[in-house]
Amino acid sequence: AAKPVHNFLRAIIERELAEGVYGQRQWGGSPGDAAHHAAGAADPAPVRLRFPPEPNGYLHVGHAKSICLNFGLARDFGGVCHLRFDDTNPEKEEQEYVDAIVEMVRWLGWDWTAQVAGQAVEHKYYASNYFDVMYRAAEHLIERGLAYVDEQTPEQMRANRGDFTTPGTDSPFRGRTPAENLARFREMRDGVHADGAMVLRAKIDMAAPNINLRDPAIYRIRRAHHHNTGDRWCIYPMYTFAHPIEDALENITHSICTLEFEDQRPFYDWLLARLGEGGLINTPPPKQHEFGRLNLSYVVTSKRKLKALVDEGIVSGWDDPRMPTLAGMRRRGYPAAAVRKFAEDTGASKTNAWIEYSVLEGCVRAELDGSAARAMAVIHPVRLKLTNWAELFGADHLEPCEAPAHPHHPELGTRRFSLGPEVWVEADDYADVPPKGFFRLFPGNKVRLKYGMVIECTGAEKDADGRVTAVLATVVPDTKSGTPGADAVKVKGVITWVGVHDGQPAELRLFDRLFTEAQPDAGDRDFRDVLNPLSRQIVTGYVEPSVMQAAADVRFQFERHGYFVTDRLDHRAGQPVINRVCGLKDSFGG
Ligand code: ATP
Ligand code: MG
Ligand code: MG
Repeated sequence: AAKPVHNFLRAIIERELAEGVYGQRQWGGSPGDAAHHAAGAADPAPVRLRFPPEPNGYLHVGHAKSICLNFGLARDFGGVCHLRFDDTNPEKEEQEYVDAIVEMVRWLGWDWTAQVAGQAVEHKYYASNYFDVMYRAAEHLIERGLAYVDEQTPEQMRANRGDFTTPGTDSPFRGRTPAENLARFREMRDGVHADGAMVLRAKIDMAAPNINLRDPAIYRIRRAHHHNTGDRWCIYPMYTFAHPIEDALENITHSICTLEFEDQRPFYDWLLARLGEGGLINTPPPKQHEFGRLNLSYVVTSKRKLKALVDEGIVSGWDDPRMPTLAGMRRRGYPAAAVRKFAEDTGASKTNAWIEYSVLEGCVRAELDGSAARAMAVIHPVRLKLTNWAELFGADHLEPCEAPAHPHHPELGTRRFSLGPEVWVEADDYADVPPKGFFRLFPGNKVRLKYGMVIECTGAEKDADGRVTAVLATVVPDTKSGTPGADAVKVKGVITWVGVHDGQPAELRLFDRLFTEAQPDAGDRDFRDVLNPLSRQIVTGYVEPSVMQAAADVRFQFERHGYFVTDRLDHRAGQPVINRVCGLKDSFGG
């Protein structure tokens, strides 16, 4: 395995392992694990991490970063990484998203199965399976005078919270007794009160400099159907209350999240300390560590905005090849290994970083250069007629040609195709009058048809509007590639082509960046105002026989043009549908 990229989280874990910080842990009380572990048994994993997506959308490139970080640290330290659905927010969560997340974490190459006492255990959890424990934890706080039911309106609560310069004001309900609070909280649970009528708040300090400690709400009334628990609950825990409990129940050691949660850390620690005192969780409790979000140029990663692109029909779905979702990148033809490499190379730091899209494309190109079979394709075709073909070889003759599938991998074999009296070439490979530095087809110039023969251009046929309908050329005899003396005729241009007799039309989907601005949602700009109208162009081109018979989801380098993939859904052998992955060179200026 490659040497892991160093980062501050790795340094923290190394130090804590050396100091034995997590050495004494007993197995946690995760309902999912109870079947596999005797209560009180030592936890065999030196570290436990988790990737905790909310199933309210598809995973995107930023999540790839978090996935590779957490699963990568677990792998490197001989620990375990859990996949946990943070599903405490019933309105936005759906099974479709759960399924898509499972599929894409697997696609990225990670696994949440671990061997426990000779048995394979899936470390896949749902926060909603802990609702009973969370409820119990809330009652525990109430019993200890550490939580109260507040019936202020949301406006009053906001006004009484204070701000950075002003301390908050106590709620008139703050002095209720535990018995009163317990009764009220049970009424909340039992559906006695309307949605939003009251909330349960932790009782900490209304003058705390950190506003998150000014009696944060921990439970709310919400009559919403939950994808996992159905209609069993009409109260739901707030994320900030639920998340530390999830981590603690699963015996997580390092709870890694993005920087915006830094101000929540004191509450995370406060809550787990209280629950530890009460014997509700194992100690030492998990610790939260924050790292900088990944932002990628020319991309939006807010799930709300990605959902808007889908819902408004701006893209064809969550897996549209222009989407920065993992499903989109897979369909675009990005290899999982390239996405992993990108996530690792961009490290983990204490600041939110903007990464150039060209860095991601560079990883894709590096991966594909080594593995994708080469092929010829003509994207914007014009017919080229070899006017002396019949005279030289006979009208029906087809000249067999061959080329290596990959220049550095002879084991990938040989591609075979043939040259005939007519071939498709790129329309812009012809010019009546050559611009400076143009060495391709113009009257009087000689070029080589790659792996074929040298030809001399003699002109073009045009329609009534002067548009070129066919390019004309003659074959220069005895110039077939690979035959003795083939190089005697020197040419400056080599062009790619597909025999008209060989080529079937292929639908080529040419993708480009979705936005014209590097920061599409900067400031108060609406990302809809900077959509690239040319982000998807569909053309009919021609591909050589080796591509035509390919299975779906197979990657090629089309010589001179870039990397392409047969579409994983729409491609059929004999009816090619092919996506452009990226060009051969950086087009993002990075
Ligand atoms: P959004 O706010 O767009 O819905 P999110 O961060 O709330 O995104 P989650 O499903 O909660 O999405 O994220 C799961 C994990 O992935 C979290 O730990 C989160 O910190 C991490 N994550 C999300 N986006 C990024 C990003 N751009 N860079 C790094 N990590 C990210
Ligand atoms: Mg979110
Ligand atoms: Mg989140």
